[in-house]
Amino acid sequence: MLRSIDSLSSLTDKDVVVRVDFNVPMSDGVISDDSRIRSSLPTIKELLSKGPRSIVLISHLGRPKGAVTPSLSLNSLLPTISKLLDIEVLFAKSIAEVQSLQEKPIETSAVILFENIRFDLREEKDDAQFGKELSGLGSIYVNDAFGAAHRAHASTHAITKHMSSYAGLLLEKEFKNLSIVLENPKHPYIAVIGGAKVSTKIAVLESLSKRCDTIIIGGAMAYTFLHVLGHKVGKSIVENTFLETAERFLESAEREQTTVLLPVDHIASEEFSSSSKGIEISEASIPDHLMALDIGQKSQKIFTEEISRASCVVWNGPMGVFEFPSFETGTKIIGHTIAKNKQAITVCGGGDTLAAIQKWSLGEEFTHVSTGGGASLEFLEGRQLPALQVLMD
Ligand code: AMP
Repeated sequence: MLRSIDSLSSLTDKDVVVRVDFNVPMSDGVISDDSRIRSSLPTIKELLSKGPRSIVLISHLGRPKGAVTPSLSLNSLLPTISKLLDIEVLFAKSIAEVQSLQEKPIETSAVILFENIRFDLREEKDDAQFGKELSGLGSIYVNDAFGAAHRAHASTHAITKHMSSYAGLLLEKEFKNLSIVLENPKHPYIAVIGGAKVSTKIAVLESLSKRCDTIIIGGAMAYTFLHVLGHKVGKSIVENTFLETAERFLESAEREQTTVLLPVDHIASEEFSSSSKGIEISEASIPDHLMALDIGQKSQKIFTEEISRASCVVWNGPMGVFEFPSFETGTKIIGHTIAKNKQAITVCGGGDTLAAIQKWSLGEEFTHVSTGGGASLEFLEGRQLPALQVLMD
């Protein structure tokens, strides 16, 4: 069981450190999607209702790799966070700056946003000394950053050795919903896995093949498997260094009696371009001059029939290049079919899957939309997430 913030009655005079995942997508210095900030608002508001002296928000943004990078300063998020919380949020670049803001007498609780934690090289090393220094920001620690829960970093892991530590409401919700799928999935249990690379998803595929009844594989990664099975894949993406792994996976799925469904037809193009028109290929093999960028109609039919009879569906990764209009249909139809299956527990996650869900406003239709891509995959693989482990009773 995760230690819940519900067990904290009053926080009067306390300084609370909250690790959030405000790693929002930015375009030209402007937030293009603020959902990650919104998803931690319930935790922040709940903590504020308990009357602390201050709440210090810690997050990373992008990959500065230990270098102070002005374009990745969390300062640029300040107006959005202030607006969403309806409070003037303060900003601090250092632990000393936070402490001096905490000591200024104010009538209400102060909310202080700490500078991008990854500007300090020690963060990603889970540096024990840095964890100890960060604990100087308060006396209570709350982690709400599910998106970073698969990483043992100083602000998600080392810090907890020095503070009373709790899980925020988002972390609890993710844990509860993903645990249902991990521990007690209803059958038929179907995983729909797509996206760019076999390499990033092979571990989850292997784990899911022991738990699921059927695995549907779409997206670019399908072509490595089709190649292994002897089909011509033309110019489609094939990860040559993963051919053996892909073959082993197919063999082990067969041993487990897990059905693996791959595309049987495709929408292809001569080039990878947003203005390309899709060319229908009505069989599994793809001519040499073409690359497959979406699943075809027969595949859609086979996949949707399977999804419609499922009692549990996990979805991670698009079926095609859904960002390009000519190659969005497979992902759109699969997304809508999962959303429509109300008899099933439906869970989805992953950055691009969330973008697809948003594109067709499907978010409300699923049992659970996970905010963590890598974290949700590792959770569903059955791995212990280091940032969660330290919050267990
Ligand atoms: P991932 O982050 O691994 O889930 O990969 C998502 C990306 O895979 C998206 O940007 C898709 O455009 C891309 N993708 C999906 N299908 C294909 C395909 N057949 N060929 C090339 N890229 C693809």
